[in-house]
Amino acid sequence: MNELYLNKLRENNFKLTPKRKAIIDFFLKKDRYLTPETVWRGLKKKFIQLGLPSIYRNLELFSKCGILAKIQRPDRKLYYGLCHSKKNNHHHHIICIKCGKVGEFSDCDLLKKKTINGFKITNHSLQIEGICLKCR
Ligand SMILES: [Zn+2]
Ligand SMILES: [Zn+2]
Ligand SMILES: [Zn+2]
Repeated sequence: MNELYLNKLRENNFKLTPKRKAIIDFFLKKDRYLTPETVWRGLKKKFIQLGLPSIYRNLELFSKCGILAKIQRPDRKLYYGLCHSKKNNHHHHIICIKCGKVGEFSDCDLLKKKTINGFKITNHSLQIEGICLKCR
């Protein structure tokens, strides 16, 4: 467990339960983007009663805290991976469509918009796709 993720959890008033600690440690150990099923299969030996819905709930909670980034890969499945952003700054993730490398994009103009076409904006999420330097 590292301090950065612990602080992000605290800032959002979520407790560090043994299950949550195990999930974050699993991501730290694997150091790549994982599907909820992979996380579940990796941890159900340790937590016999662990259900997949509980994994989904916690991964979603971690993505709200900025601990995990949620991305959709070309296979249309959702993947989660540790977000390395230090502060709780607004940013989006940019994904290479060839190799799956994930980068961060923080120069988001949408944050300045209060309304769009009469809609009062309360939140937005987006995934940017492209081709990384190495794959070009
Ligand atoms: Zn991030
Ligand atoms: Zn690439
Ligand atoms: Zn934005």
